[in-house]
Amino acid sequence: MRSIEGNAKTLDDPMQIPAIEIKGLTKSYGRVQALRGVDLEVRQVEIFGFLGPNGAGKTTAIRCMLDLIRPDGGELRVLGMDPRRQSVEVRERTGYLPGELSLYPNLTARGMLRLLNSLRRHRADPATIESLAERLALDLDTPIKNLSKGNKQKAGLLQALMHRPELLILDEPTLGLDPLMQKEVLQILREARAAGTTVFFSSHNISEVEEVADRVGIIRKGRVVEVLEPESLWDRSLRRVRVRFRKAVDPQRVAEAPGVTLLDGSDGTSVVLQVTGEMGGLIRVLAQLPVRDLETERPTLEEIFLALYRNDEED
Ligand code: ATP
Repeated sequence: MRSIEGNAKTLDDPMQIPAIEIKGLTKSYGRVQALRGVDLEVRQVEIFGFLGPNGAGKTTAIRCMLDLIRPDGGELRVLGMDPRRQSVEVRERTGYLPGELSLYPNLTARGMLRLLNSLRRHRADPATIESLAERLALDLDTPIKNLSKGNKQKAGLLQALMHRPELLILDEPTLGLDPLMQKEVLQILREARAAGTTVFFSSHNISEVEEVADRVGIIRKGRVVEVLEPESLWDRSLRRVRVRFRKAVDPQRVAEAPGVTLLDGSDGTSVVLQVTGEMGGLIRVLAQLPVRDLETERPTLEEIFLALYRNDEED
């Protein structure tokens, strides 16, 4: 394994240093192996989505990046630094939204942000705090204990974003937010990238990752199994398609389209199909048939994992 220390390319040119570089990271909690050799490289000034099912190891990897827990083995660099030896500096230059927020319940959001801001070397501009609060529709004068779950999440996001750090590490940033707010948060992340920030965020939500991420890392059972651009996730994934016809057709005609598997064609006037990859082949076949209606369903994350990794030896 190539060691991070020995990476000559990164030593010569600071812009080439990955924002996050992880090699062979392992971590167990007793008998549970949460990370089983994670390898990952996040480039500077990209939005990187970290996607994986429950219990895959996302939060554990993130906590290692900030030295909130210590890995058992492997190598880790954040902004070129070792989080174990330079944890204060790593946290100073990073904005972090934890998965489980523990805020100061008796303070108002404004009081909490002031307190956290006073602890930082690089202070946030009060105007930035006000403008972010306005965009997120967060009332800064409500005591945190009286905020709804979604509004607590916004307060957590604000403390991560307010000092405009060079790296954002966000554990499920849109969790508990309504769809409009989710969009606003994704827009804020895009603007952060435009201003030169690297964004690393974990998610279960394949649509939001597709919408905002430049690259996606898929973690499964404590290993990063793939890093890819979001479009290719859809290209290779499954869609479930239901087609209704004006009159009965032979379901086999539809099943012959490329990438199509017939799931149900028993009632003659409708079929349920599974389509792998692009839809063009199916659409060409359907154009010759009396189609009344067509519905497609995006697969769940679990279905995509199953489709992509069905042949994994672990399964
Ligand atoms: P989720 O999407 O559900 O938040 P995740 O991908 O963030 O999951 P982790 O929270 O990193 O996953 O958990 C990875 C594994 O480690 C899981 O099996 C989990 O039960 C276990 N685990 C996490 N934290 C602890 C802990 N403090 N003690 C024991 N086991 C833990």
